[in-house]
Amino acid sequence: MAEHVIAPPPHMALPVIGTDAAFPVRRVYCIGRNYAAHAVEMGHDPDREAPFFFQKNPDNLDPSGEFPYPPKSADVHHEVELAVLLGSGGRDIAIGGALSHVYGYALALDMTRRDLQGEQKKLGRPWEIGKAFERSAPIGPVHPATAVGHPERGAIRLAVNGEIRQDGDLGQMIWKVPEMIVYLSEYFELAAGDVILSGTPAGVGPVTPGDVLELSAVALGSFTVRVV
Ligand code: MN
Repeated sequence: MAEHVIAPPPHMALPVIGTDAAFPVRRVYCIGRNYAAHAVEMGHDPDREAPFFFQKNPDNLDPSGEFPYPPKSADVHHEVELAVLLGSGGRDIAIGGALSHVYGYALALDMTRRDLQGEQKKLGRPWEIGKAFERSAPIGPVHPATAVGHPERGAIRLAVNGEIRQDGDLGQMIWKVPEMIVYLSEYFELAAGDVILSGTPAGVGPVTPGDVLELSAVALGSFTVRVV
């Protein structure tokens, strides 16, 4: 292999629970408005429309349990989400086989500079400055599907300083995990290492430094993130 002209950037890999092994990340897709009650709280129609996605960068994922409050925003929101991690991929995946591409699941936060996202929405511009900033996606350890199965319903929650702020159920997803995989595979070539953040239930809101965020979901236990 040719020598690199600069040091190769570090590759993001996420710890897999109960092992010394790690899950290497290729891409990060995030679905918008995938729980009706959250669509309504953001001022949108809850009816099922075609899903839409944006992306974060692999190195925006952060398993450290610390979230540094980012610059250029006075309104940073928490969005608790189920992360779906693919062990294989392809194009035009059929619905029946979609879950066979899932390696496992994790708890994650789609942290959002809501003020910046709101300005970009108004201008019809891309959301990256609101969504894809440094360490914008805290993520807990990966739980292999061989251990936890494919959770389709059950609680997904976020508590801030011990008070429940988001209290949803995975069964409330408008686009289910296999449907998201099918849809994405029609537009992109999915591959091992891809991560899908599957949307947030209602109850999003601002965080401040010092806050302790506790994410939890059925079968995945809990994961704590401190805002610093
Ligand atoms: Mn989100």
